[in-house]
Amino acid sequence: MTETLKQDQVIRILIVDDNPSDRVLIIRELQQQFPRLEAQEIRDQESFDRAMAANAFNLVITDYQIRWNNGLEVLRMVKARYPYCPVIMFTNTGSEEIAVEAMKTGLDDYVLKEPSRRVRLSAAVQVALERSARERQAAKLEIRLQSLLNQLRVGVFRANAQGQLLECNPSFLELLGYDSLSQAQAENSLDLQARYAQLSQLPPPQRDDWEVRLRRSDGSFVWTLISTTLNRFDSETVLDGLIEDISSRKQAELEVQRLNLSLEQRVQERTAQLAAANQALEEFAYSVSHDLREPLRAIQGFSSLLLEETSQQLDNRSLGHLQRILESSRYADRLIQDLLTYSQLSRVDVPVQPLNLTALVMEVAEQLQPQIQQRQAVVNLLEPLGEVLANRTILMQVLTNLLTNALKFVPLDVVPQITIKAEILAGSVKLWVEDNGIGINSEAQSRIFNVFERLHGSESYPGTGIGLAIVRKGVERMGGQVGVESQLGEGSRFWIQLPSVEET
Ligand code: ADP
Repeated sequence: MTETLKQDQVIRILIVDDNPSDRVLIIRELQQQFPRLEAQEIRDQESFDRAMAANAFNLVITDYQIRWNNGLEVLRMVKARYPYCPVIMFTNTGSEEIAVEAMKTGLDDYVLKEPSRRVRLSAAVQVALERSARERQAAKLEIRLQSLLNQLRVGVFRANAQGQLLECNPSFLELLGYDSLSQAQAENSLDLQARYAQLSQLPPPQRDDWEVRLRRSDGSFVWTLISTTLNRFDSETVLDGLIEDISSRKQAELEVQRLNLSLEQRVQERTAQLAAANQALEEFAYSVSHDLREPLRAIQGFSSLLLEETSQQLDNRSLGHLQRILESSRYADRLIQDLLTYSQLSRVDVPVQPLNLTALVMEVAEQLQPQIQQRQAVVNLLEPLGEVLANRTILMQVLTNLLTNALKFVPLDVVPQITIKAEILAGSVKLWVEDNGIGINSEAQSRIFNVFERLHGSESYPGTGIGLAIVRKGVERMGGQVGVESQLGEGSRFWIQLPSVEET
């Protein structure tokens, strides 16, 4: 930014000269260029001291030879107190050595009083004032920048291509525990040369961040985020960087990682424990059910024997009791058998194969002939039923249960009408088993697939309440679904949906 002086700007000048006509000369010369000039004439030390204390001037013009001192001393005194105040020497008596000496001390210009030279005075004042304004502005910016850098909670640093630290702010020193820049330079814990080399390989903007754990001067460690970039000034390229303390974030991250790890481990342990407990429980249930059948068979066997051998001797009451024992033990045996089938469904592997549903349904119907005949039921099979991918044993069991129910839950004075049909869909087959039985109210329809869920007492419709649970578990294990559509008194439409053989 170039500073230019405005015509109407007030310019206050100290004129240090013993010669009154020279002072007039100066004022006249400058007034042409600066109409709002305010000149203060200094004739002795006392007036000089007063002016210095008052600080009401922008520039000093001094002769070299003065009665009470000399121009060089005046220059020194002004610059010592006001470094940005321009001083111009306007003299006839100075030598070249004096001029050189004065320039070294900070003199802004040197103008000779002789007529051919003094015309330069206005221009010299103009240039000096502009330069001083620029310097003042730059100094102000520098002070602002420095105070910002000092206040910043982030470390700021600059290094050269050799990785040597050139400058840094107080936060940088504090973060790494250094007392001074020279200590930081000596310990060189950042390996900036390697960083510089890495960045110079990158395309513009040559910038990168990295997280690193650094050793502080006292031996402790701190996690930092270092952001660096290469900047060019004239012909030199430097590495500018910011360094931030991220210890608390890192700590939290590590804690989350540790917790995740231990959580995963705990979940694995629990899952393994649960699987082991489940298996033990299933094995226990299986062996108990299995072992229970032995004494049950003995009860059944001996009570049948007793019935055969002693039916002549026993009175009707005792005979009734014996019949009850036999029936109860048969029921318990059926119950255990169903439970075994159910629990085995989750234990065994379920290999599947392509199965023709028509053949399978006919085989099941064949096995159920005695019941079908007993109820004089009509079974309609609407072909085609298609092919499914299923486990033969399980699917036979599922169809048997559905057909048995379709025969069973029909009032005795009604001829059971069973229709079996299929919807052949893309990738699956939905098989329907429809009856004209008592129906199921909508509230109970989802419940009946649970174990032991029965809607009727065994005196009206005997059963164990496990049949439909076997249907659902079996179908699900083969990758399918089950459901029912029904209304009370309107018959029921049970369906199972199974994957079909993919057509290629
Ligand atoms: P179970 O037949 O041994 O009672 P299920 O699990 O096969 O056990 O059936 C559960 C209950 O669902 C039956 O008790 C009955 O109330 C009802 N149910 C099953 N199938 C039918 C059907 N076709 N019509 C009417 N109700 C049925």
